[in-house]
Amino acid sequence: MGYRVTLIPGDGIGPEVIAAARLVAEATGVSFDWDIADAGEAAIRATGTPLPEAVLDSVRKNRIALKGPITTPIGGGFRSVNVALRQQLDLYASVRPSRSIAGEGTRFPETDLVVVREATEGLYSGVEHWVDHDHTAAETVNIITRKASDRICRFAFELARRDHRKKVTAVHKANIMKTTGALFQTAFREMAPRYPELQADERLIDNMCMQLVKRPEEYDVIVTTNLFGDILSDLCAGLAGGLGVAPGALYGDTLAVFEPVHGSAPKYAGQDRADPVAEILCVELLLRHLGENEAADRIFRAVWETIAEKKVVTYDLALPGYTSRPVPASSCSAMAREIARKVSLVDLSTPLPRPVVHAAATIDPALEG
Ligand code: NAD
Repeated sequence: MGYRVTLIPGDGIGPEVIAAARLVAEATGVSFDWDIADAGEAAIRATGTPLPEAVLDSVRKNRIALKGPITTPIGGGFRSVNVALRQQLDLYASVRPSRSIAGEGTRFPETDLVVVREATEGLYSGVEHWVDHDHTAAETVNIITRKASDRICRFAFELARRDHRKKVTAVHKANIMKTTGALFQTAFREMAPRYPELQADERLIDNMCMQLVKRPEEYDVIVTTNLFGDILSDLCAGLAGGLGVAPGALYGDTLAVFEPVHGSAPKYAGQDRADPVAEILCVELLLRHLGENEAADRIFRAVWETIAEKKVVTYDLALPGYTSRPVPASSCSAMAREIARKVSLVDLSTPLPRPVVHAAATIDPALEG
């Protein structure tokens, strides 16, 4: 019997990138027993609801899931399946590694950081209303609790310790948001001394955005609240090469769901054009969660070599306008087959070549916040 994993293909490009990820997962030799659970458009057609209870039950039972993206229908009364899944399963930590792969598609080839985002409260609590009948004023409530702040800060420090990282940076706006911001800041400051081997520092969100687009290599683990984390994780996906190569994971105390940062990209659905790498790297994260580190290393290496070689890559890594080294674009399934083929061939005994580093820009101290 292999690992029993809930497989949620999702919709749009979801089924295509999930098929690609499955092919690569199975090429590692690790045995999986997939428990397929439909959510999104397929589930609406079959059951009238985008997130049937059976999907939640399957994740609760198997405690681990690989998920494709799911469209949030505009109008029609359905709330986001993705937000509902996080809240109903209490998947409170959204973890998005941002690693440059072979220096491709990025101006920052040394980027290697992780954004840890609190995923259940903050400005995404869903508590909002119009203030008046004419809808000329509105309020969204930013809920920050000490419990959720403590557990996300602890999660970030534990992740940094486990992955032998050096620094955890808390991002907030405590100078302006004197209660919610300060509560998160206090939780971080009181957690930091329990991890004396790790550096702990803080940035205001606006300054953090500026710092990241100048010198992302100075950051390691970033921990922040829901909205700031949503924005920073897309920013960091861009630093590392774009949505096509950005994986993600959602963790609760006992459950883990792995899903790419990107959405369902409806304009590419059914065309076999989407980049499968983000979903394939979700399998890498899933294997690390299972303790299958060699298989995980093989996947990262196979992806790295496929992208570095640039013979079989999808449009976003191939075409002019997306890359400085244009080549003919391959399909999603062809790229997945190439990565799967390499998984058993890669040599893990040699270190990855260092990416090309651009000359450091001169920093104007007057602009440093
Ligand atoms: P998107 O990520 O689907 O697309 C943004 C851009 O990136 C588009 O140009 C798209 O074509 C491109 N892109 C995305 N993934 C790609 C890939 N693997 N390969 C190549 N190009 C890729 O974001 P969007 O258009 O804002 O959202 C589309 C739908 O997805 C919406 O309904 C949104 O709610 C949903 N969504 C779901 C999730 C999730 O399931 N976790 C996350 C984000 C968005």
